Amino acid sequence: GATIGILGGGQLGRMLSVAASRLGFKTCVFEPGGDCPASHVSNYHFQAEYEDEDALRRFAAAVDVVTYEFENIPTSALDVLDSFGKPVRPGRNALRISQDRLTEKAFLSELGLATAPFAAVDDEIDLAEAIAEIGLPAILKTRRFGYDGKGQARIMTPEDADQALADMGGQPAILEGFVTFSHEVSVIGARNAAGDVACFDPGENVHEGGILRTTTVPARLSAAQRTDAVLLTGRILNKLDYVGVMGVELFVTGTGLIVNEIAPRVHNSGHWTQQGCAIDQFEQHIRAVAGWPLGDGSRYADVVMENLIGDDMARLAQIAAEPAASIHLYGKSDVKPGRKMGHVNRITRG
Ligand code: ATP
Ligand code: MG
Ligand code: MG
Repeated sequence: GATIGILGGGQLGRMLSVAASRLGFKTCVFEPGGDCPASHVSNYHFQAEYEDEDALRRFAAAVDVVTYEFENIPTSALDVLDSFGKPVRPGRNALRISQDRLTEKAFLSELGLATAPFAAVDDEIDLAEAIAEIGLPAILKTRRFGYDGKGQARIMTPEDADQALADMGGQPAILEGFVTFSHEVSVIGARNAAGDVACFDPGENVHEGGILRTTTVPARLSAAQRTDAVLLTGRILNKLDYVGVMGVELFVTGTGLIVNEIAPRVHNSGHWTQQGCAIDQFEQHIRAVAGWPLGDGSRYADVVMENLIGDDMARLAQIAAEPAASIHLYGKSDVKPGRKMGHVNRITRG
């Protein structure tokens, strides 16, 4: 059978490997770290840096198609893999755009989608101009490498500006106007090589300290909002000629849906699909990158997904004693504050 190469060996790579293996594929994980969650469940593990062209060449030779589980892969690594004739799905354009919050927001607004007002900030002068234009409160974010709310500083009053800029550590940043939303939702969308698009039912997300805490389906959305959420996701996927699963994070406001960010990969807020659908986001992604038809992702249950973060693991025995709690652990040996260790899916209505 074919071998699927996965760049990145975290929990998303782990769950992709399991899904691929169920479909009869072999998996080969490329991950600089040693004892990583995906390496426990994949057939092969290349432990090397993304800049190591020789390792990339050997990886390319070992796989039939390449995908990735996180968006901070250097695009140069994808170029090397491309040059060995191995298809990379989703393609490098989706990766490039979503790696930088500035190009991401520019792409979304060119598509006619609503985003928070934004401006590029490299120094004090840019920041003063951006605050004058956008107003306060606002959020300053590094353009690249941010996740789980890291690399962000809120600016409530003009006095906060200097500290916020210092928090960026000299990295290029973006100022975003603060969006007043009633709640947050996300759409997990999929598109295959034939151009078919399927979206999972939107989930409602609650964050704590910048980290996703729970996702609940169904989300509180009107029929019209639900349609808008799915249609805008389809437009993003089509525009990028996308192949694979994507997460689209949205703010729900009185004046419509505002796109916060897109993730060119399976997404934490889609983990509920493991217990809520016949075909979950991981199988859907593998189907898409392998050139298969998409599966049926209709939601057949109400589900609450709870992340197990850091010390939440102290409650594991208690959760394990709940007969209907479906537990997914990532095999990470050391518990650290803020580290995602696993998640639980609870069906609240079957
Ligand atoms: P992720 O882990 O989802 O990749 P991230 O570090 O990329 O997160 P964002 O999604 O941009 O960060 O922001 C994290 C959270 O902060 C959002 O889910 C939202 O709750 C809040 N937030 C971010 N940007 C804004 C904004 N412009 N207005 C209001 N709230 C915001
Ligand atoms: Mg993000
Ligand atoms: Mg986010």
